[in-house]
Amino acid sequence: MALIVCKFGGSSVSDAASIQRVADRIVATKAGGNDVVAVVSAMGDTTDELVDLAQEISPDPPSREMDILLTAGERISMALLAIAIDARGVNAQAFTGQQAGVITDTSHGNARIIDVSPSRIQRTLGAGNVAIVAGFQGVTAHTNDVTTLGRGGSDTTAVALAAALGASVCEIYTDVDGVFTADPRIVPTARRIDRMTSEEMLELAANGAKILHLRAVEYARRYGVTLHVRSSFSDRTGTLVVPPDSTEEDTMEAPIISGVAHDPSQAKVTVVGIPDVPGMAARLFEVVAGAGVNVDMIVQNVSASATGLTDISFTLPASDVAAAHTALDQLRSEIAITDVRYNDQIGKLSLIGAGMRSHPGVSAKLFGALRDAGVNIEMISTSEIRISVVTAAADLDVAVRAVHTAFDLDAAEVEAVVYGGTGR
Ligand code: ADP
Ligand code: ASP
Ligand code: MG
Repeated sequence: MALIVCKFGGSSVSDAASIQRVADRIVATKAGGNDVVAVVSAMGDTTDELVDLAQEISPDPPSREMDILLTAGERISMALLAIAIDARGVNAQAFTGQQAGVITDTSHGNARIIDVSPSRIQRTLGAGNVAIVAGFQGVTAHTNDVTTLGRGGSDTTAVALAAALGASVCEIYTDVDGVFTADPRIVPTARRIDRMTSEEMLELAANGAKILHLRAVEYARRYGVTLHVRSSFSDRTGTLVVPPDSTEEDTMEAPIISGVAHDPSQAKVTVVGIPDVPGMAARLFEVVAGAGVNVDMIVQNVSASATGLTDISFTLPASDVAAAHTALDQLRSEIAITDVRYNDQIGKLSLIGAGMRSHPGVSAKLFGALRDAGVNIEMISTSEIRISVVTAAADLDVAVRAVHTAFDLDAAEVEAVVYGGTGR
């Protein structure tokens, strides 16, 4: 008997009819002789709606209370799914993250899983039941406070349970047929990828491809879990994301380019006229880090020798701009800075591929494609298997399509179907 851990995202459980469809799928898997653990997200855009509701009440809600609020979304869908399975004559029990043994650190809103003790899940499976688990949530080790794992975190719940229960594959059911060479909502000609390494998927996820939660990919890689990303709206085979030690990966020829990721949620800060002397960058980024801001790209200009001043630009999540603003206002009382400019109308495009390591000319081709599309590049950064550029937000979609075409990633015929979801 195999153990199947599967996860159903918000668009797969967005209303009663969708929940019934998911219940049919789970009952069929169980009837096939498998043990089933199903992790669920909140219905549709429930989490966003709860965030909006809290914002209407206070601009700065306490993170502990936000976590209690947001975990309510997953409690609704887990209970409804258990009820739907029970109505089909199959026993199912729903569990919160705490009941499932998901233990996290205390970082409310973005907690890390530090331990998984799924004894209650094992007991219910042993009794022949289907286990339904609320995704995206856990509980702190000592204080028993409810935490959330960061937006999109149900994927991570599923992978953590798969690892703890010894399932070799974790099925991630979503609203597209797998991982594509770009977001099918932006690039209708995107191609589905049959199989890819977790290394490439990490880069895609880290650079805005929200098809998988970044931590889920990290976790799967560390614990050797293969992910099968597929649609809950079709029976098509999806994408296998294989960990590094897998034999499949050894025999895989790395494609030069695996895909294009885009991230519209970043902002850019430019610190204008900061003294070009040792220690300034250190002080600037100490202050920014002290405010809990995650910096991504950094560019420093050549200083104007007449003034001895330079400019430093960096990107950060748009949601961190307010915290950065407060911290930099304080820095201006310590260091004479000419100006600080904030721009949240930017987008980041990243071209990713393990084969880039051994192929020259990839950057030149990327920049050429952007030139031909009339897109101006504001910043550039690279890693071994990635090149990222910042553009104006208004240019981002055009840029993604142009780069996708320039690297011959377009499918001969359109196969990318977006079955549901609002893309929010
Ligand atoms: P779920 O609610 O199932 O977790 P998400 O909205 O989090 O779904 O993730 C699925 C969405 O990810 C797709 O609808 C698609 O718009 C987006 N996406 C972004 N990049 C990619 C990609 N490279 N391949 C497939 N989907 C992508
Ligand atoms: N419901 C949570 C969110 O919208 C978690 C998830 O869907 O994975 O972010
Ligand atoms: Mg998701």
